[in-house]
Amino acid sequence: MEKSTRAADLQSAQKSKREHETENVSASAKKTKSNYAVDHTVTDMRKIIEFMSLVGELKRVPRTGWVRNEVKEPESVSDHMYRMAVMSMLITPQESLDRNRCIKIALVHDMAECIVGDLTPWCGVPKEEKHKLEEAAMKRLSGLVSEETGKELFELWEEYEYQKSDEARFVKDLDRFEMILQAYEYEKQQKGNKGLQEFFESTKGKFKHPTVQSWVEGLHQVRNESAETSEQNSPSNNELKEDKVQESS
Ligand code: ZN
Repeated sequence: MEKSTRAADLQSAQKSKREHETENVSASAKKTKSNYAVDHTVTDMRKIIEFMSLVGELKRVPRTGWVRNEVKEPESVSDHMYRMAVMSMLITPQESLDRNRCIKIALVHDMAECIVGDLTPWCGVPKEEKHKLEEAAMKRLSGLVSEETGKELFELWEEYEYQKSDEARFVKDLDRFEMILQAYEYEKQQKGNKGLQEFFESTKGKFKHPTVQSWVEGLHQVRNESAETSEQNSPSNNELKEDKVQESS
């Protein structure tokens, strides 16, 4: 008798636990629904997967500037955007910028390239045409996700494209800085001292934000020091030094 009462108690406790869990699940589902309007229909799931796969293509789009300069195993567009997003995390409150917005702009600014590729002035596509292609690509991408998210993605892209805000202008500086930092790294790994000078020339005097300007200055110092050190240590230089030692002895 006691046993069956305990079993009944246990059953009713489990039932109420299950009911409670169901309530929680539906409450969180409602919350999600109101926040992001997630729709779990099969069509929408297919669209979401298509969106994610298209964005994944960015991992396989090499940056044209490096390909043109015959850099071995050049980075992809998503590599470039990832580091810009991390750079945006270095924003401090003193900079009076919306840090999260900068991170988002960094992650979205080249997203259209998963469809149109990395078009540069050397690709022979006029600027107007490039803009139209990228706009159409962003519309396609935005149409694959919920209305709210799609609107956000498109607006972030437009904000950067038209340089509408301080955040967009800051991220433009990051775009150029990330490129020259990468150029310096390729010089050290593959191209030799100042072997990718054209990237430094093309961005000269274009940095607007004081923080990024100070990073550029720091990079120039490091690059010059590293060029001097490697010149001093180069075999031809060592031979010269030895010759001098022999001459003087
Ligand atoms: Zn970029």
